[in-house]
Amino acid sequence: MAIYSLLFFYPCIGIPGVRERTLIAVKPDGVQRRLVGQIMQRFEQRGFKLVGMKMLQVSEELLSQHYQELRRKPFYPSLLHYMTSGPIVVMVWEGHNVVRTSRIMVGDTNPAEAQAGTVRGDFSIHISRNVVHASDSVEGAQREIQLWFHRKELMDWDCYDHNSTYQL
Ligand code: UDP
Ligand code: MG
Repeated sequence: MAIYSLLFFYPCIGIPGVRERTLIAVKPDGVQRRLVGQIMQRFEQRGFKLVGMKMLQVSEELLSQHYQELRRKPFYPSLLHYMTSGPIVVMVWEGHNVVRTSRIMVGDTNPAEAQAGTVRGDFSIHISRNVVHASDSVEGAQREIQLWFHRKELMDWDCYDHNSTYQL
């Protein structure tokens, strides 16, 4: 297929990084406190596109793969206990620079350091209960998305109003 017809059907592929994806999860404290809607609203209103979402009780096995770099940290046992204490809502969001922008929207790992206006800065006070997860790099996001989602659980779709989000 010629490149111009590809661009006609998928106009967003002409804009670098527009198909970037990241993994965002509302942790058990966020679900218990009924913050899922407010957190999702922030990503929607910023202009990002939801391409996958599910609620689940995470297994220790999946979590140890997800947090593979943290397994030897002293806080890992309590992190494991926290993250398996109830259901979480895990999502994949797509859009230009979504990995970096969502880290800024989520705020510092330690809510005591997180700016007001960020998710952690608005909804949490202690590092042991910081409400959300966000991938920290494009490579990390790809790894985490593959870990949490089957390919068929992710939707490829175009927003009707993408002209209002991106200059084509
Ligand atoms: N965490 C913790 N104590 C610490 C550091 C981290 O309980 O001293 C938890 C916290 O829930 C954090 C998660 O471990 O979100 C993963 O840590 P990371 O450094 O990857 O922070 P994040 O990427 O979530 O900001
Ligand atoms: Mg991290």
